Amino acid sequence: MPREPTFQAVSLICLIIFNYKTMKSIKNRLEYLRKQIQAENISYGEIAELQELREYIDPSDTLLLQWANVEEEGETIECGNCGREFSENEEGAIVSETINRCSRCANL
Ligand SMILES: [Zn+2]
Repeated sequence: MPREPTFQAVSLICLIIFNYKTMKSIKNRLEYLRKQIQAENISYGEIAELQELREYIDPSDTLLLQWANVEEEGETIECGNCGREFSENEEGAIVSETINRCSRCANL
């Protein structure tokens, strides 16, 4: 007598179908983004989307990877001492509500 499919087996099959559909829609989305790049029509939102999908980009796909690696512009802060603009996560810098010092001026 054939066994009833177990709950685990059914969930596993659903998961595989779900992943397959997800992967397919991600691939379609990456192809869409590639067309946008080639048409020089890609928006910042789409670049951000590309960055989120970075792990799904084929390692040999240099065009998409190049765009996925475009640095997001971080917050810049002006140093209260020398006026130099530095990034929020610059090592050694002091940033508080009243003191903004770049790493070079932090110890002054
Ligand atoms: Zn400074």
